[in-house]
Amino acid sequence: MEKRITGRTGMFCLIGTPVGHSGSPAMYNYSFAQTGLDYAYLAYDVPLEKTEEAVNALKVLGCKGFNVTMPCKTRVAELVDELSDAAKLIGACNTVVVKDGKLYGNNTDGMGFVRNLKENGVDVKGKKITVMGAGGAATAIQVQCALDGAKKLSIFNRKDEFYANGEKTVKKIQQMVPDCEVSIHPLEETDALYAAIKDSDILVNATKVGMKPLDDQSLVEDVSVFHPDLVVADAVYNPKETKFVQSAKAAGCKVAVGGTGMLMWQGAAAFNLFTGKDMPTKEVYELFF
Ligand code: NAD
Repeated sequence: MEKRITGRTGMFCLIGTPVGHSGSPAMYNYSFAQTGLDYAYLAYDVPLEKTEEAVNALKVLGCKGFNVTMPCKTRVAELVDELSDAAKLIGACNTVVVKDGKLYGNNTDGMGFVRNLKENGVDVKGKKITVMGAGGAATAIQVQCALDGAKKLSIFNRKDEFYANGEKTVKKIQQMVPDCEVSIHPLEETDALYAAIKDSDILVNATKVGMKPLDDQSLVEDVSVFHPDLVVADAVYNPKETKFVQSAKAAGCKVAVGGTGMLMWQGAAAFNLFTGKDMPTKEVYELFF
């Protein structure tokens, strides 16, 4: 690293808090070196109330692009000059490209989800999809699936503070992607959930259930609803294989994937937006995931 960084090295970074545990600096710096790019990537701890100051400082310092994590994602979406369709619908940015002093905001979480399914031989176009969740990850997945041509989206969330966000997502998708049939239902209505799963091609968990400390739980208790053609995907990546994914595999679902692929592919999508090049994903996956 000390030999690679020069007076001309371009800067990328992550902002948000906490960021100390982030794997992004290792992943991006490795990828810059592997693709022969004279760039470096750091993580900056930025609280919500300092977001605007931090973004202005990054502009002044000639930062070429940055990733955004919680709690700054929504605030950054308000600060950029232009938003991608996905970022506009989600109302949050996780990737900003700086070009000629202008900020271009994107959201690559949903792109990572769709790409991960593609790598597993599954296209969301024309599919009926049930998504459990209405928080950040779920919204990104729902929006990208709608933009990428999903035929029907059935959203289920428990009646907590996220339910209203799910209702907003339904309205936004209805306005911007009218060809996608979208609805939201309470997760507590188990019969409706199971009926939707039986009628779906793809079932997604994008809640915190399955993630530590809820790692002994799955939102689908009756495993008889996992039909063999059902594609099952979890956003949760800690643990790598959740109880939800394990029980889908045990029930015979041919494709059942955890959240690590989504995580890597959202980073790969950001790398491509930053540099115009492909991230060396095979090596990155082996080394960092
Ligand atoms: P969030 O706080 O924005 O949303 C939390 C969601 O979980 C809401 O829908 C909430 O209703 C639901 N929930 C929480 N506890 C529940 C319970 N006991 N029963 C039913 N529903 C419950 O969180 P988020 O950022 O959307 O993250 C959700 C999960 O997705 C986390 O495990 C996170 O690590 C993961 N995630 C993965 C990726 C990836 O790239 N793979 C990206 C973002 C988030």
